[in-house]
Amino acid sequence: MLEWRAVDKALQNLIDLQHVDIRLADVRARLAKFPQKLAASDARIAAAKATLDASKAAQLANVKDRKKYELDVESWKDRARKYRDQTSQVKTNEAYRALQHEVDGAEQEIASAEDRLLEQMVASEEYDRKIKASEAALKEVEQLERVQRSTIEADRAVAEKELAGLESDRARATAGIPENLLDHYDRIVKKHHGVALAEVRDEKCGACGMIVRPHVIQEMRRADSSQMFHCETCTRILYFIEPGVSSASAASAAASTSHES
Ligand SMILES: [Zn+2]
Repeated sequence: MLEWRAVDKALQNLIDLQHVDIRLADVRARLAKFPQKLAASDARIAAAKATLDASKAAQLANVKDRKKYELDVESWKDRARKYRDQTSQVKTNEAYRALQHEVDGAEQEIASAEDRLLEQMVASEEYDRKIKASEAALKEVEQLERVQRSTIEADRAVAEKELAGLESDRARATAGIPENLLDHYDRIVKKHHGVALAEVRDEKCGACGMIVRPHVIQEMRRADSSQMFHCETCTRILYFIEPGVSSASAASAAASTSHES
């Protein structure tokens, strides 16, 4: 079995760090979605409220229309009455017929205004039903969203706790890594969406899949090597797990690797 050298120790620290960073990225991505989830919940309530408001507005317009048609009926009734009163004062048949024509016209107007009024009264019942249905729907949505929100808030609390734990894990992991190496790691992380290390598997870079040249693998396995190796294609830091290494380090590295796939 290989002896863990300085470079192995540094690599192991980086592997541990990457393991933490992958979980951190995951928890941060989850946290970033919560405002959107809460906004969607608010939007569902707002939509139900808007439906209720529209039903109420329609009912209000209906009440206005009914008042207008009631006034129409009254005003045509007044006019019909006036024409009828005048008929007793006319002297000629011609004038009488003309007035009678006016009376008939006014009565037709009364009838059609009453028809419109009746239509609006029937419609009013429908608007009442719509308002009741919209109110019930709003109540249901509000209740559903209350449950939804408390689930979201509980999930967020769990994620925030996880974040705090991982942040202290990260502080512990970085404590053992020299600053220049940490800077190097951070630069590669930024370039490669959070993954700076790649395990060499089947003589290939585990991240980008390009072949790692045999002499590099040989160098990596040399006990006296004091160098860190990078994938020539993606520039990630390469590491190699010797088969049969059964330390906690190997287990940790394996855990980190499983996150990548
Ligand atoms: Zn690569």
